[in-house]
Parts: sequence; C-alpha cells; structure tokens
Amino acid sequence: MSADARYARQVVMPAIGEAGQALIADSRVVVIGLGGLGTPAATYLAGAGVGELRLVDHDRVSLSNLHRQYLYRESDLGQPKVEVAAQQLRAYNPDILITTQTRRLTDALFAELVPDAQVVLDCTDNFPTRFAINAACAQYRKPLVMGAGIGATGQLGVFRHDRPSAGCYRCLFDTSGDAAEACEDAGVFGPLVGMIGAWQAFEALRLLIGDAPTESHWLHFSPETRTIRGHQIPQDPACPCHV
Ligand SMILES: [Zn+2]
Repeated sequence: MSADARYARQVVMPAIGEAGQALIADSRVVVIGLGGLGTPAATYLAGAGVGELRLVDHDRVSLSNLHRQYLYRESDLGQPKVEVAAQQLRAYNPDILITTQTRRLTDALFAELVPDAQVVLDCTDNFPTRFAINAACAQYRKPLVMGAGIGATGQLGVFRHDRPSAGCYRCLFDTSGDAAEACEDAGVFGPLVGMIGAWQAFEALRLLIGDAPTESHWLHFSPETRTIRGHQIPQDPACPCHV
C-alpha cells in the first residue's frame, strides 16, 4: 500500500511536508505508560508514521482500565498492556517498528531506551516515576512531553532538556511536596485523558519536525470551565537536574 496516501493529510501541511515526514519516519520515540494517556498518544504517533515506537509498561490489562484505554478489549484482561498495544498498533500501521518493554523503569532501562531517541513521552500516573523520567531526560538531554489527568482537569508539560537553559519538571515541583490524588482514588473522565494524550502526541510531532517552542512550558487544562492556562518554565539554578 502506498505510504504517500497514508500520510497525505499531514504531508500536505506546510508545517510538515515531505521533509517533516522524513524526520518523523526516521525518529525513535519512547512512550512510558500505556494507560489512559499512552493509548491515544501511541495511537496518534503510530498513525503519523513515527519510525520506531518504544512502548514501556509493566502493567496488565484490567477491567477498570477499559473506560478510557481503548486499545484493549475484554478478551485482553490479564495480558501485558504493551504486548496487546503493540499488536493493535502493528495492525494499525504495519510500516513502523514497535518494540515493547515490560521491565520496571531502572537506570539501565533508561540507558537502553533514551540516548538514541528523539522524544520521550511520560504517560505515567505517579510522582516518583515522573521525577525519575525527568532526571533521565535531563541526563541524556532529550525533550520530554508529560501528561496528567485527574477528574476533569488535565496538565501538560513540555520540557526542553535538549536546550541548556530550559526549565524542567523538577524546576517546577519539589519532590518533597504532597503527592496529589491518584487516578484510582479520584477517578478521571475517559475523554479528558484522551485529550491530554492526544495533545502529547501533537507536541511530540512538533518536536520531531522542529516546529516546537524552544522554551519549556506547562499547561493547565480545564474543559469543564473552558479554560487553558499556560506559562513558561524558567530554569531554577538550584534544580539538581542542571548541574
Ligand atoms: Zn530543572
């Protein structure tokens, strides 16, 4: 089947064009977490033709996932998420390479996945993991797109670790701060994480084609009140990620 036809609606945009599509096809993107955020993020990146998607999640499919994690079916209950997701995404776009990791995140796994990637997506749902991913992206100087959704509000961070003067997640939040509510306690609208995950894919594509803002920024999104607030993140000289 013609790859030209598959990507025609994005190649026709001046922001992408043939040159941008070639950049997307040559890229490697790490997606950490294949839940409510990772489902739409990985789907859109696969659809866009990202050359290699590296899917990372040690979790298995459970019934409470299904209201928002639409890559999975009832028949997948108990199966490793990344294996089911990879199977679905390979059928969706056979032109790309999809690799899977069910190991828990460690320095060794970051060293395998991050150094030759162009962008990392944090689609996880807990603070220690977010700080660990941020630190790894700082170490390897890779841009990081982070998403979060609780209830009916979402947050999105784009951290330009590839830029020496940009701020990061650790500049923004202290590790000693209160852990916010977890999705399993507070609940979440399925479409809310769908929007944020799709937005993460959008930001990742902009990074891949060189069309993203050069500063780090953080967005707070509340569809209920129809508000989006955003601000740049200056680098904190005391942040341990920039020494
Ligand atoms: Zn920082």
